Amino acid sequence: MIEGRLFVVSAPSGAGKTTLLKRLMARVPRLVFSVSHTTREPRAGEKDGVDYHFISADTFHRMADKGLFLEYAEVHDNFYGTSQKSVLQQLRRGHDVVLDIDVQGASIVRQSAILQGVHIFIAPPSLAELEKRLRGRKTESEAHLAVRLKNAVIEMQAACKYDYLVVNDDLDETIGLLV
Ligand code: 5GP
Repeated sequence: MIEGRLFVVSAPSGAGKTTLLKRLMARVPRLVFSVSHTTREPRAGEKDGVDYHFISADTFHRMADKGLFLEYAEVHDNFYGTSQKSVLQQLRRGHDVVLDIDVQGASIVRQSAILQGVHIFIAPPSLAELEKRLRGRKTESEAHLAVRLKNAVIEMQAACKYDYLVVNDDLDETIGLLV
């Protein structure tokens, strides 16, 4: 039996979602973060099994073919997926599980017959602020930055499908809203 609740959180890259979720998880012990699988290269400081399970494209597609993902999607030229087994295990143990996934993945979960969740969209105060935050991160090349900004415009259009829309202007204020 499923006892925990599922929270699906999406945001355009640079909206501050990762920092927000890390702070939120630290404050709310019953929340468990679902560690996704990805074909993306680890960024400096990222740990395998903590931030993501970093896997090859071959392994990813084999897992997808076996139906091991609750959802998966290609985002910014890389593949990302959520392990169905791991999410169900945590929910059955009574944990509340947070999925940090893109709008395509969230749409798949919304249509899932297996699980229903609370869907939250985190938006930046403006696209100009989003670009400023992405540039400040200094993790992307100019080409990757352009892809992320272009995708941000598309992702923002999906915000109306979510149960909650939260504008992340001031981090502390946003955390206060979510707790
Ligand atoms: P990043 O490469 O910046 O860590 O993540 C890029 C995007 O991929 C973010 O929007 C993030 O929410 C999304 N993402 C991370 N894990 C998953 C996943 O398992 N499935 C889907 N669909 N998107 C994911």
